[in-house]
Amino acid sequence: MGDPHSTIIEQAREMKPYCCGRCGYSLDGAPVDEVHSVVCPECGYTMRFVVSVRLAADDPEYDRKVRQSLGRTERVITRIAMLILLVVCVSALVVILF
Ligand SMILES: [Zn+2]
Repeated sequence: MGDPHSTIIEQAREMKPYCCGRCGYSLDGAPVDEVHSVVCPECGYTMRFVVSVRLAADDPEYDRKVRQSLGRTERVITRIAMLILLVVCVSALVVILF
């Protein structure tokens, strides 16, 4: 350990218990090698910790104005509203025609 990713992985493991993806055995205390792989002591399944960093908007309102687009939640709400509208229109069409 020593590189920044290893430090992040160590901190993550202290905050949350990780289990084997195959057998569910606890990986507490299982050593992580230099490429951030960990081998399940129970079944031998090998997994690798992947560290990712994401830059998110600090102010979604400002971000929306700058990008001129909807945020993720707004897109989901819009799609649900459009789906409901479509169902209502189809239902009305069925009632009118039959
Ligand atoms: Zn396992």
